[in-house]
This record gives sequence, structure tokens and C-alpha cells, in this order.
Amino acid sequence: MTLRHLSHWVFDMDGTLTLAVHDFAAIRRHLGIPEQADILHHLAELPATEREAKHAWLFEHERELAVAARPAPGAVELVRALHERGCHLGILTRNARDLALLTLAAIGLEDCFDPPAVLGRDEAAPKPDPGGLLRLAERWRVAPASLVMVGDHRYDLECGRAVGCRTLQVNQPGDPWPAARDQRFETCAEILAAL
Ligand SMILES: [Mg+2]
Repeated sequence: MTLRHLSHWVFDMDGTLTLAVHDFAAIRRHLGIPEQADILHHLAELPATEREAKHAWLFEHERELAVAARPAPGAVELVRALHERGCHLGILTRNARDLALLTLAAIGLEDCFDPPAVLGRDEAAPKPDPGGLLRLAERWRVAPASLVMVGDHRYDLECGRAVGCRTLQVNQPGDPWPAARDQRFETCAEILAAL
């Protein structure tokens, strides 16, 4: 099936619809998280008081990034075009849902997403867990395999693979995860051109 026939699109947020600004190494250093560790999994295993304090810092740090978010090349045009065609649009992010909504407002796309279709780290298990995609498919009453997952990170592509849906890699130099992506695009503008 060609891209133009797909009508249920799920986007990663940071680095996919926005210019990547998260310095994950600095976040790990600040929170005392080992270099190779998954930040959200590491925090989840801490004692409650420490976990809450570190989540509070992370939320505030990411809030500052969200209000200053800038759109990735072609992201606004792509999302608007899909929205105008009547596509169902969702966000699946490892960021917090409130911050994803703040980010969408900062880049002028808040009207294109139904808020319940914006899933953050508290609404679904973090990617690469496919739970968020399954939830969106259920909400839209479509087969999970009929979704399109768009992202810049391996986790975005792997969660799409896990439900058997189309996976599009964007904003990621080179082709580091060929087995996890169906198609790769330099930018969202290139996806729009392919529609
Ligand atoms: Mg990303």
C-alpha cells in the first residue's frame, strides 16, 4: 500500500516533529544515571522519594525545552496536510503528555491532534514497548498493522515493527537500523513529497 492510502499516522515528538534538543548525556549526568542505562527504566526502579524528585527535575527541564521547541523541517506542513486529508493523527512519546501538548502548541500544531491521541510516558509503557500503538489502534478501531509509525529513534521503529505496522525513519543521518524501518526519509518534507 502506498503512503497516500494510509490514514492513521503516529508520530514520535522530540526530534521527529521538532528539532532535536535533548542532551541525554547531560540529563544522565545530572540525575546520576549510568551512560548506557535507559533513563525511564532507571528512574522507575529507584526508591519512591528519589524517583519523584528526579522525575520532577526531568519534567521541569523538559518543560523548558518544550516551550522553546522549534519545528523540524517540513513537520508542520506534513502534519497539516495529513490533517486536511482527514487522517487520524497521534503522538507516542517518552516525554510527558502535558509537555507533548505544550510542544505541539509551541510549534503551532495543537489543533491537529485529538488530545486523547497524545500518549506520553504515563499513558503507555515507554517505547520500544508497543502498548501505546495498540492503544491508539484500539481507540481508532483499526488493525494495529494499518498504522504508520514515524520516528527518528530506533525505539520508534521497533515499536512499529512489534505491531507489524509501516515504519518510517526521519531526521536520522545514515541508515543505522535497516531491519527496523520500511522507508527512510531525510525530513518530514520528503515524506510530504512522497504522499
Ligand atoms: Mg525522537
